[in-house]
Amino acid sequence: MKLAVASGKGGTGKSMVAANLAFTLASTRQVTLVDCDVEEPNLHLFFPAPATTTEVTMPVPVVDESACDHCGKCGEFCQYGAITVLRDRILFLPELCHSCGGCTLVCPNSAIREEPKRIGTLTTSAPMSGMKLVSGKLDEGNPHAVPIIRAAKILAEGDPLVICDSAPGTSCPVVEMLDGCDACILVTESTPFGLHDLELAVDVAARLDIPAGVIINRSDGKDQETLRFCAGQDLDVLMTIPFSREIAAIQSRGDLLCRARPEWQEDFCSLYLKCRSLAGVER
Ligand code: SF4
Ligand code: SF4
Repeated sequence: MKLAVASGKGGTGKSMVAANLAFTLASTRQVTLVDCDVEEPNLHLFFPAPATTTEVTMPVPVVDESACDHCGKCGEFCQYGAITVLRDRILFLPELCHSCGGCTLVCPNSAIREEPKRIGTLTTSAPMSGMKLVSGKLDEGNPHAVPIIRAAKILAEGDPLVICDSAPGTSCPVVEMLDGCDACILVTESTPFGLHDLELAVDVAARLDIPAGVIINRSDGKDQETLRFCAGQDLDVLMTIPFSREIAAIQSRGDLLCRARPEWQEDFCSLYLKCRSLAGVER
């Protein structure tokens, strides 16, 4: 089963939920936790351990100017504006290139070859018995988050239980992370911004046909608007985590709620069972 933990906005506590769920389940089964928040991965902070790092690359075109007659075909083909053919040279903007390979194929003079370009890294570790942690990290200033997320998910392919922690928002990296997931936990907080962004996240999950449920985090007990929205959308509220100074203090020192207060493990086990039910997996 592949579970996604996402949120329409940042700072709702989705990484905390993913980390506590993985920590709790790892004591009884094999769990792979994948940090798909590649611009700002932070799950490794909860699980310090020796790790193996590999580079992630994507193929980019390199033009052999001596073989190029400036026919313009590559520039006409590129839908992303990454190649512009000038009278005396070719202008290539690597940050716009999506590595589709099309310009190499359409060049009549075989003047374009592809070379790998580093865009980030994947780090793998085994921080505790029963857990594999995969963290994708995008190189600073690089805009290509999606290939890193794809590569991180490939490292988890075939593992029995995968929990993916998403980037916040509803853009391409989130869609890539959700692709192929069996169910999605949407973490929100009961504020007007939280509700607005929850609505967007629910819409994305629905468009991808992924069953979703909601966790209300830092609840001050005034959750009526969020509960009304969830009821109207037929969304299960899977868990409510209260606003608490003690929980905030545990997190701010980089600890896990379920490690510091083991009684919470029962709640996260129950969350897992609800997710299985959402995903249509037999108990
Ligand atoms: S398609 Fe090939 S030959 Fe034509 S401009 Fe591009 S690189 Fe040069
Ligand atoms: S590989 Fe695709 S996206 Fe990149 S420059 Fe060539 S045509 Fe454009």
